[in-house]
Amino acid sequence: MANLNIDSVKDRTFDAIVIGSGMSGGWAAKEFTDKGLKTLVLERGRDVKHIKDYPTTNLYPWEFPHHGVLPDDVQKANPIVNRCYAFGEDAAHFFVKDAEHPYVQEKPFDWIRGYQTGGKSLLWARQTQRWSDFDFEGPARDGFAVDWPIRYKDIAPWYSYVEKFAGISGNRDGIPELPDGEFLPAFPLNAVETYFSNHVKKTYKNRHVISARCAHLSKPNQIHLDQGRAQCQERTLCQRGCPFGGYFSANSSTIPWALKSGHCTLRPHSVVESIIYDEKKGKAAGVRVIDANTKEAIEYYADVIFVNAAALNSNLILLNSTSNRFPNGLGNDSGTLGKYVAFHNYSAHINAEYDGAKEWTTDGRNPAGGGYIPRFRNVYKQETDFLRGYACGFSAYRWQQNSSEGIGQTLKDNLVKKDLSGWHVGSHMMGETIPKETNYVTLDKSLKDPWGIPQLRISVDYDDNDEKMKKDYVEQMTEMFTSAGFTNIQASTDHRAPGLDIHEMGGVRMGNDPKTSMLDKWHRLHACKNVYVTDGASMTSTSCQNPSLTYMAFTARAVDHAVSEMKKGNV
Ligand SMILES: Cc1cc2nc3c(=O)[nH]c(=O)nc-3n(C[C@H](O)[C@H](O)[C@H](O)COP(=O)(O)OP(=O)(O)OC[C@H]3O[C@@H](n4cnc5c(N)ncnc54)[C@H](O)[C@@H]3O)c2cc1C
Ligand code: SF4
Repeated sequence: MANLNIDSVKDRTFDAIVIGSGMSGGWAAKEFTDKGLKTLVLERGRDVKHIKDYPTTNLYPWEFPHHGVLPDDVQKANPIVNRCYAFGEDAAHFFVKDAEHPYVQEKPFDWIRGYQTGGKSLLWARQTQRWSDFDFEGPARDGFAVDWPIRYKDIAPWYSYVEKFAGISGNRDGIPELPDGEFLPAFPLNAVETYFSNHVKKTYKNRHVISARCAHLSKPNQIHLDQGRAQCQERTLCQRGCPFGGYFSANSSTIPWALKSGHCTLRPHSVVESIIYDEKKGKAAGVRVIDANTKEAIEYYADVIFVNAAALNSNLILLNSTSNRFPNGLGNDSGTLGKYVAFHNYSAHINAEYDGAKEWTTDGRNPAGGGYIPRFRNVYKQETDFLRGYACGFSAYRWQQNSSEGIGQTLKDNLVKKDLSGWHVGSHMMGETIPKETNYVTLDKSLKDPWGIPQLRISVDYDDNDEKMKKDYVEQMTEMFTSAGFTNIQASTDHRAPGLDIHEMGGVRMGNDPKTSMLDKWHRLHACKNVYVTDGASMTSTSCQNPSLTYMAFTARAVDHAVSEMKKGNV
């Protein structure tokens, strides 16, 4: 202590520290700085600035050296991330490369990551649905995980709050299992999507095909213009980063908003190694960071710490934060830290053709991707031999049938041919998986990453419930497609590793009972009251809706709670 440089400690002391600048961390930064707190955002990756750092955003297909396809050697060097549909020449620079950030696969797990300012919010497909009480009550009803400590009414106002700022397009469909939100106009369904939607409405009780809800500014409001964002131009080149700010990302929205406040310090290249626990005060004092470039270790201090490093990295940080009080990881009195990890299961698909509506074609591009079929299995009662359910994507399209056959005039004619194919329809399953103690992450005892931090060991797998659910999806969609008059129906299932659907959750779950959960109903550690976890790690179960909107709403609600506790002197 004798050599302590007081000024330096003061410079490294903040009101709040946020670990991670992605989807959820961006919200923590915005909320803290809106409330006037001096906030440090620690980001392990480089700083990607909105517009300036989107190098491919305006390139034409022929301007890519390999026409959009990554060279063979890059694909071979990255077998894990290469399985992600969005890992192409236009967006590869926003994905973590396999060799640079190693982890241990006790069982196969495709861990898809984006380490930069904005995290994976630059890359996401922007599908945003609220969860309902059927999801929050699910575990208590079916007994497959601990009860959630909250219900839909607790989070509904916070959904509205984040939706208004982020900008979500959609229709008010009036479906209890998929609550309506604060929507901008929806992107409409095309002719065959509308045909299928009407057919399903007529044929089935409680099944719906709706316009997918997504985080695009179909018609911006003043609050979006105030962020410097503009109307979505429907280019569907989103994962390159959008120069219009047409879709929500932390880079275009929450992070610049926080920086503009003057209260935010963003420190990129800062790998958080652990959270420092002060045994005397009985709470966290700050975080230990390894500078990604210099490997120098630095400590930062704050009254409150938000962990938003994305689900599995948040687990890693807590597991690596050991002390006399917490020898098995910060807040881990229950022994549940790292356990009950679950994910989404997208491993079944179905395609078919439709021989009608030839007078119709599509007009422009739909950034929402078409239709969405909310979960319809086991909603009001248990009706199948598997627990929970699945949602489905649905879209219909025609393509231009030109060809490069022939020579001379024939070749020219073939190349410019405007003939359209018939209609093709397709769907993919989006299933809920069951959180289990046997699906877990731990730290490897000997292997370290390039910054000297233990590597994460992932042991997560499918189970019988997933197989039964997959079979049901294929049967139900085949029936729905057949009754709609679709032909040449081809269903397929694949054996992808868990993780590829990029919705991993759990490990630091919420619950009322500190003996069986890590976080209370406000997302703070039961056993360390000034540390909050509000990303996917906190999820008690996974629902089948996309998760990011819920992480955003959880984060805004938790910051509100943290600040009011700070004012009362409880943090
Ligand atoms: C191709 C693709 C499509 C997707 N589609 C959808 C979709 O349609 N709908 C949906 O809801 N979700 C979708 N997702 C998932 C969505 O992106 C994630 O749910 C969301 O980004 C998670 O938010 P987060 O804040 O937890 O993590 P991230 O957004 O990943 O941010 C975490 C940040 O923490 C940083 N970090 C990690 N470890 C440390 C550390 N030790 N120290 C400092 N910083 C650290 C990372 O670099 C990163 O910037 C998709 C993802 C991808 C890649
Ligand atoms: S579709 Fe909209 S959000 Fe996506 S790149 Fe185009 S303008 Fe941007």
